[in-house]
Amino acid sequence: MTRVAVVGCGGLGVPAAWTLALGGHKRFRLIDADVVEESNLHRQVLYTTLDIGQPKAERLAVLLRDQFGAEVETVAARLDEENASALLDGCDAVLEGSDDALAKFAVNDWAVTAPRTRTAVIAAAIGRRGQWFAVTPASSCYRCLFEAPPPPESLATCAIAGVLGPVTGQVGGSAALALLHALAGKPDAAVGALMRLSPRGLLRTAVAAAGDCRCRG
Ligand SMILES: [Zn+2]
Repeated sequence: MTRVAVVGCGGLGVPAAWTLALGGHKRFRLIDADVVEESNLHRQVLYTTLDIGQPKAERLAVLLRDQFGAEVETVAARLDEENASALLDGCDAVLEGSDDALAKFAVNDWAVTAPRTRTAVIAAAIGRRGQWFAVTPASSCYRCLFEAPPPPESLATCAIAGVLGPVTGQVGGSAALALLHALAGKPDAAVGALMRLSPRGLLRTAVAAAGDCRCRG
């Protein structure tokens, strides 16, 4: 069975991993360098006050093993361009749900490395909004849409700007469902498209493959 890496075991990674497990997925690698903080608990709902100070990846691994009998590896690291291929070695698919824009591009670039056999869903949420994008072997990619990461000073993270707990649950779950569909060979609307959730509803923007993008080889 495919090993799925979940990058970021916070607001998006927790509901995403749970949804993947509910969908029958049993092999995981959880990648996160952070520990559970009290301020996380409103949106990272599988963690409790007893988990404060514990590594997120380790706590989520225990839950997935106990509840689903999953086979789970953990890595205490922040994924970046330099370490992505090593951290994702042996994985076939990634659910990227960290709060780090650079990690999203690193996962995208891993997914579109030739020969293209890998699948990734890249998700983000902030405030009352969220988005996800699925990259499959035949699709356009995240860089077809966003050529490069924004400068660090322009980024608002959840730690600064805040995020509504239910939004992370919905976005993380939807991103995981997109990954389950893609792995089952029944891709959904998120493949090669930016799915944006806001209080006004769900908006889908199809992304054409850019002619000079690295995903075109
Ligand atoms: Zn591309």
